[in-house]
Amino acid sequence: MSDLKQPSRRISKPKQKAAVPAKAVGKAVRSRVPKPVDRATMVEIFRRWHAANPEPKGELDYTNPYTLLVAVTLSAQATDVGVNKATRALFPVADTPQRMLELGEEGLRQHIKTLNFFNTKAKNVIAMARRLVEEFGGEVPRSVEILETLPGVGRKTASVVVNIAFGDPRVAVDTHIFRVTNRLPLAITKTPLDTQVALEKLIPDEYRLHAHHWLILHGRYICKARKPECWRCPVNDLCRYPDKTIP
Ligand code: SF4
Repeated sequence: MSDLKQPSRRISKPKQKAAVPAKAVGKAVRSRVPKPVDRATMVEIFRRWHAANPEPKGELDYTNPYTLLVAVTLSAQATDVGVNKATRALFPVADTPQRMLELGEEGLRQHIKTLNFFNTKAKNVIAMARRLVEEFGGEVPRSVEILETLPGVGRKTASVVVNIAFGDPRVAVDTHIFRVTNRLPLAITKTPLDTQVALEKLIPDEYRLHAHHWLILHGRYICKARKPECWRCPVNDLCRYPDKTIP
């Protein structure tokens, strides 16, 4: 018996959406990322922050470059309020590297035990005090590159210290500054270090010294991580963030 050929039947597949070329997807995603603001806009942003707060200050308490260095070191993964509470009793007894060594690691631990990672921080602050005494005559070096070699001191801490204590216009980048920079955007960056390099190049000279504080205060109180408060933002009309909020 010969096989009878069945009449061929066309089975129509459910219609699929035409595939979007990967290139186009990339373009769509990229189109959500606005271009950095131009120079005139950047100047205007800093002019407004300056006009509203000409001498911005950090929120950590300190009495000299050394206590500033210790306070910033202790502030990793801790609030400024928490650090200030701990240092209120600490600094009167340990405001120099020599006095910190005399207090000792256990004594320091007792003062800072309310802070996250207090064991590691106590070890680092004592090791740092020893190096400052042995290698720098008990003084805080004025160089970011040298400060970065001290125990527990990273680029951000070193930059904050030289900026505030010595008036060196370095822009220390924390999570707030990274976020604000990329939302406005002043620059599109991938890491805090990229951000620091970009900001130190882009921010007009006359605003660079206080840029760190303006950016941090803006990020902490207005351009918040989860829900920026765009409706009361003083630079809303200049910002290119595509997901601005309303109250
Ligand atoms: S408008 Fe919104 S996103 Fe833009 S800087 Fe202000 S708070 Fe941040």
